[in-house]
Amino acid sequence: MENYLKNTDFEKIRDILGKSEKIVITTHTNPDGDAIGASLAMFLYLKKKGIQVSVIIPDTYPEFLAWLPEANEIEVYEYYQDQCIDLVKSADTIICIDFNSLSRLNELGDLVRNSPAMKILMDHHLNPSVDFDLKISFDKTSSTSELIYDFITESGETVLIDRQIAECLYTGIITDTGSFSYSCNYVKTYQIIAELFRLGIDGEHIHRLIYDTYSESRLRLLGYAVSDAMTVVQEYHTAYIVLRKEDLNRFNYQVGDTEGVVNYALSIKDINLAALFMERDDHVKVSFRSKGNFSVDRLAREYFGGGGHTNASGANCRMSVDETINKFLSLLPDFQVKLSKVYNDKDE
Ligand code: 5GP
Ligand code: MN
Repeated sequence: MENYLKNTDFEKIRDILGKSEKIVITTHTNPDGDAIGASLAMFLYLKKKGIQVSVIIPDTYPEFLAWLPEANEIEVYEYYQDQCIDLVKSADTIICIDFNSLSRLNELGDLVRNSPAMKILMDHHLNPSVDFDLKISFDKTSSTSELIYDFITESGETVLIDRQIAECLYTGIITDTGSFSYSCNYVKTYQIIAELFRLGIDGEHIHRLIYDTYSESRLRLLGYAVSDAMTVVQEYHTAYIVLRKEDLNRFNYQVGDTEGVVNYALSIKDINLAALFMERDDHVKVSFRSKGNFSVDRLAREYFGGGGHTNASGANCRMSVDETINKFLSLLPDFQVKLSKVYNDKDE
């Protein structure tokens, strides 16, 4: 892979970080392993450089990430608004990690937008918005964690990457690639993994902490999602799962419990598009996954006001769950041809 940092604001960002006194790091709502892993890696790295830094997130992270080094230092806006407002107001630099538009911060987004601080984006999603003063945005890295590794290394500071930072980066890479199942076709990702292992991480242990710590009700929710709540539309090579409020309550839904559920729908042979519709209090959270060249980033962006990556995207819809599903189903006939002959870029 080319040295993509040369074509970004890398040098300017280095310069700004060198001059910053108070930095706030922030990441998207419903934060996943990459959002939290990359943010904490950046936090630990900047702290090591003697910079005053904090991490603020709009809403809380799943319990299976709570073991990450310094996760207890993260300030959650939904619980501690005043502290978060003070931190944003006094920051001279705000680093936005693993998302591409301030709208993905919900209320916290307006606070960041109105702050006079320098806004820096470090991210691997498609289509970054114009919300940022400086950016490193590159969609061919497996994860933002990989991008943070590249940033530190290109800065000549590889020595600052210790075991704790390595654990955060490893978590981001394995969670964003589905443990090396997608977005992981470049040699460089594996070279980075090798370096992280040299720093002493215990990959097997980390895997268990992330994937083998389900509550009983989370696993039963997964079982219900696949056996009762999934519809397969063979004609359109599509499978979708609907989880309504009463389902989530029945299985004592906790943040993060539906992480990965949509991938099971995509694992069916000849299913090229999978969706999960989750009914929340005032919106429907939608997750899309696809195989090959069918872009769910476009699907989410053009029809549902969301976005993401070619094969993984999401949206938050302000419609009822039935309206959202009907809209989705009404689009399928137009995609029938595309969905019937999905190919991998590499096959072209
Ligand atoms: P997930 O389905 O796991 O929540 O998200 C899949 C991908 O889509 C992630 O990269 C996530 O950042 C992105 N994504 C999820 N929801 C939204 C959304 O509402 N807007 C945008 N732009 N991206 C989203
Ligand atoms: Mn990511």
